[in-house]
Amino acid sequence: MSETREWVVGEWQEVADGVFRLVAQPASVNIGLVVGPEAALLIDTGSSPAQGARIRDAVARLTDRPLATVVVTHDHFDHAFGLGGFAGVRTVGHESLAETLSAPEVADGARELGFDPDLLAVPETLIAVADAVELGAGRVAEVAHLGVGHSHGDLIVNIADPGADGFPGVIFAGDLIESAGPPYFGPDSSVDEWSWTLDRLYNLARPGVIIVPGHGDPVDRELVREQRDAVDAVRVEFERLQAEGVPEDEALARGNWPFPAQHIAGVVGAAYAELRARAERQPGAGDRPTLPLA
Ligand SMILES: [Zn+2]
Repeated sequence: MSETREWVVGEWQEVADGVFRLVAQPASVNIGLVVGPEAALLIDTGSSPAQGARIRDAVARLTDRPLATVVVTHDHFDHAFGLGGFAGVRTVGHESLAETLSAPEVADGARELGFDPDLLAVPETLIAVADAVELGAGRVAEVAHLGVGHSHGDLIVNIADPGADGFPGVIFAGDLIESAGPPYFGPDSSVDEWSWTLDRLYNLARPGVIIVPGHGDPVDRELVREQRDAVDAVRVEFERLQAEGVPEDEALARGNWPFPAQHIAGVVGAAYAELRARAERQPGAGDRPTLPLA
């Protein structure tokens, strides 16, 4: 892939007062921006260091507030490969990224996308659970790992801003939520825990809050509930297949899935291993209790 039309960085669109997103190709990923009274915060970085640098320029064209912090919602290329374009800016990601972004497959991915893997960067601030980003005048963005789901290092960014009249609140959800299509299950997704993480996201979201997914237009919290139920249906279906002794290589064809099977194909092996590990950790936990309980 070359740095031509496919790598277009779109225009900023205002999502709520002082909160913006743009869409960066080739992956149609949402890049978020929060412009506070004294500082700006960027969410996700695009698919290459060069694209990250172009997004940084787009921030500077929109606002004269300094870009103080960049948060990556997870380690996938379209969100994290632009980190190398933000030298000198405080960068934040989940602690698992120290390992995952240094993996040989990541370097291979960079070469496939046409750039030198030495240009990749790992966030300098790695967090386990939560961080607060000061934007000036008391305005704070909360960064949180609500649990594993789409990946093992998903972060959300919550701009609740209780001080601002009429501000609805905005949550950048990364790929925990997608509105451009069904959620994507990869080999690093957690079939077992994704729906629990979305329970926490739903509980965090007040009525009226605007949720910006990793891909697609902003949505309301009802979509979080719908995707939570769909993701949970995938877990239940994997439990059923495993309980019935369906082998991994037949699972896709024999499962009754809420999405086209290609959205689940990448996770079959990981899902079997994860559910097996849980059942082994807690004997009987893989079985649903039935009445009467002895
Ligand atoms: Zn992703």
